[in-house]
Amino acid sequence: MKIETLAIHAGQHPDPTSGAVMTPIVLSSTFAQDGPGNHKGYDYSRSGNPTRNTLEACAAALEGARHGLAFSSGCGATTTILHTLRPGDHVVCGDDVYGGTFRVLDKVMKPMGITATYVDMSDLARTAEAMRPETKLVWLETPSNPMLKIFDIEGVCAIAKKRGVPVVVDNTFATPVLQQPLALGATAVVHSSTKYLNGHSDVVGGLVMTSDEGFAQQLRFLQNAMGAVPSPFDCFLVLRGLKTLPVRMDRHCSNGRHLAQWLMSHPDVSRVYYPGDEQHPQRAVVERQMKGPGGMISFVLKGSARGTVADRSQRFLSALTVFTCAESLGGVESLIELPAVMTHASVPAETRAALGIDDGLIRISTGIEAVDDLVGDLDHAFSVSR
Ligand SMILES: *Cc1c(COP(=O)(O)O)cnc(C)c1O
Repeated sequence: MKIETLAIHAGQHPDPTSGAVMTPIVLSSTFAQDGPGNHKGYDYSRSGNPTRNTLEACAAALEGARHGLAFSSGCGATTTILHTLRPGDHVVCGDDVYGGTFRVLDKVMKPMGITATYVDMSDLARTAEAMRPETKLVWLETPSNPMLKIFDIEGVCAIAKKRGVPVVVDNTFATPVLQQPLALGATAVVHSSTKYLNGHSDVVGGLVMTSDEGFAQQLRFLQNAMGAVPSPFDCFLVLRGLKTLPVRMDRHCSNGRHLAQWLMSHPDVSRVYYPGDEQHPQRAVVERQMKGPGGMISFVLKGSARGTVADRSQRFLSALTVFTCAESLGGVESLIELPAVMTHASVPAETRAALGIDDGLIRISTGIEAVDDLVGDLDHAFSVSR
């Protein structure tokens, strides 16, 4: 079945007791047993819950995976995956990763003896050079955040596979509608379901999908042992959000395309970073591994006589009324932010500079509003920020 159908039906059947079409929210923490150890598949909701299991089955189907695991946040999913590692192990990680992923590697895992090397994986030779005998995991995010660099998933997986190292792809920005890393050789996919998968900015959640039996078993054990599980209510909301994911992604892509083209031709804009740009340095990879460019756009304003570019960016964001100045992304509403001050404030200033994250860089998460209203809002902010 195609993804539009899977998003609505995978893992779901009308409830056998009532016929309810939508999966019930089972809030029970515990489940009656006919006798000790004799239960209907559920004993305690941290270990398994009917609403969560349904979400996990649906999410797995969307990534073409055999197993799905839901977590209390994207960071909870990441932390749980990183706990498959042992002191002395090494991670090769794409540079320009989600700020919270860098933070957990640098501030939580490093003191526990797990080190990481950050590489620009658009250079496959440098990626191969970063691999060490003790490298036990490769982690990448594409499109990257906030520079929207594109890494060749198949190319990186080939390098890792030669050494028997698992590859985890953070597919939060692209979603399975636009990109399917498992089919390109990845071992597992991680999502912040807070973003596009739920899509309505009302849940914090994470998901991992994999077809690797050993990895799935390890993660299933850690999910229960470490306990970073989502509430049944949140699982219900994400499951509901998934049903419209393919439709929403269509609109995120078409609105994004329109806005990006408008920004690229705007005299007040000095640079646009956008995976759908014909001039994107990894254009060929985009065409090969993505079905669409997504809704994320980053750009830099031209300076003004009234101060630095960063000052102008601040004025620009404050002047918007349809766009909301906020962290996060992937919701139905358009969001805008300054990575250096907001989402990437935990990344050291020199690292930000090396990655090209200027203090004035602006990141947009294009929502699904009428695109003319979005253009009008930006246009107004351009003039008042000059
Ligand atoms: C938000 C985000 C995360 C972390 O997810 P949370 O749900 O906020 O914990 C990880 N990766 C990417 C790409 C993200 O955007």
